Amino acid sequence: MSHIFENNKALNFVAGTWLPGDDNKFLDIEDPATHETIARCALASTKSLDLAIKGARNSFERGDLVNMRPVERSQLMFSIANEIREIADDGAEVLCRESGKTLSDAKDEFIEAALYFEYYGGIADKIEGKSIPLGPDYIDYTVYEPYGISAQIIPWNFPVSLAARSMAPALAAGNSVIVKSPELDPLALSMLGHALQKAGVPEGSVSILNGIGDDLGAKLVASKDIDQVVFTGSVPTGQSILKSCVNEVVPALMELGGKSAAIVFEDADVDQVVDSVKSGIFFNAGQVCSCLSRLLVCDELYEEVLDRCYSLSESLVIGHGLDNPDLTPIISEKQLKEIENKIERAISEGAKLVTGGKRLDRTGHFMSPTILSNVKPGSYIAQEEIFGPVLCVMTFKTEDEAIQIANGTEFGLVSGVFTKNLSRAHRTASALKSGQVFVNEWFAGGMATPFGGIKKSGFGREKGTEALYNYVRTKNIAIRL
Ligand code: NAD
Repeated sequence: MSHIFENNKALNFVAGTWLPGDDNKFLDIEDPATHETIARCALASTKSLDLAIKGARNSFERGDLVNMRPVERSQLMFSIANEIREIADDGAEVLCRESGKTLSDAKDEFIEAALYFEYYGGIADKIEGKSIPLGPDYIDYTVYEPYGISAQIIPWNFPVSLAARSMAPALAAGNSVIVKSPELDPLALSMLGHALQKAGVPEGSVSILNGIGDDLGAKLVASKDIDQVVFTGSVPTGQSILKSCVNEVVPALMELGGKSAAIVFEDADVDQVVDSVKSGIFFNAGQVCSCLSRLLVCDELYEEVLDRCYSLSESLVIGHGLDNPDLTPIISEKQLKEIENKIERAISEGAKLVTGGKRLDRTGHFMSPTILSNVKPGSYIAQEEIFGPVLCVMTFKTEDEAIQIANGTEFGLVSGVFTKNLSRAHRTASALKSGQVFVNEWFAGGMATPFGGIKKSGFGREKGTEALYNYVRTKNIAIRL
């Protein structure tokens, strides 16, 4: 394990210092591919939470970040990015082992985290208000001010890059940040704390706490002294957090789950479709909020696409993340069991198991790549998030029917269209009810493209310049001359 951990224990980064939990409580962090305990993680105490909040408030009131010259805040963001790059190799190994993901994807997460700090570093000195003409006797202008303390709750599927996705714009705008790491894989995120500390973030402006969601997480979001909640995770947890936000009238950003559909029209390039299925549902073992969960194929291409997806699933190399296979384990036994149960229910409701459907007979939480056909649009498996390598294939006859099926869930995170006809791509993209639409490549887009959901997939946007405006509020100053 990384030399950063003391005696194989990850501590809590609390307002500039590293603390164990006062109650000396630890979580054992398991390698999902081997069941081996790889390190222990100290759970933050309520006292540490109080210290983090007090430190964040003091730093904000002192104006540590907000009164820094914007160009210096930009430089600080770039220094953070450099420090993240320095630890990317060590960090990738830790992340690979605690989350099960491939070493190369884990390294990408660290690089992506660095890129977020560079991206928002690039605009930290360009958060410009506007001047509003009110006639010769007045001067009126707007300024963007940070909220204060941004409390951020992070899920386990991309702990490092998702934390950076929210921390970077929040800090770039001058907020203090308190992060609650995910309990299944908190170690690499704790390493990010070391990078931030080494880059010289002002004391108190960042804390990273380890804790159980409905204990420490719930206490953080219910605190009377936070100014914003940023939550990335499941719908039920988001709903529970929103109740705390209602009580204290605290604004929230909700990045929740999805049940995303790709529509394959008869003029689609089938190679593009198959490549997108590979990354869309088998990357990170399907544990991706924006995964390609439902594949809607027109009658004309149905058999061909299904055959190609079957061959793809048979060709996947499955193994430990350190060996960079195509398919890695599921994060925990609990998740694996849930996936199996959902598949069982799908079959009982009439879906046909094309391949997979069960755990692999080997050590580790490995799920076989699974394809279900004959899936009815209204059935449980077509409506619920699975969070595993499970592709639901359906068929359609007309464009209207495809759009209706794609839009027919409670979610609206992303969707996809495969066609060579630009007019149809454009028309369909505008009819799809989701925050982002991919045309001819699942996960097209990047750091600069706004991301977020509609309906139960949440509200607010991360990534791009747009995300920055989640982390500031507008003040208007009206002057009578
Ligand atoms: P989860 O909701 O179980 O947990 C997410 C985080 O919330 C964890 O840190 C957990 O400890 C914390 N938490 C749990 N209960 C809490 C409470 N009462 N108060 C405060 N915090 C609490 O989700 P998960 O299983 O970690 O992640 C998977 C889910 O996240 C999926 O639904 C997935 O779609 C979603 N997700 C969404 C995005 C996005 O950007 N839209 C990205 C990644 C994951």
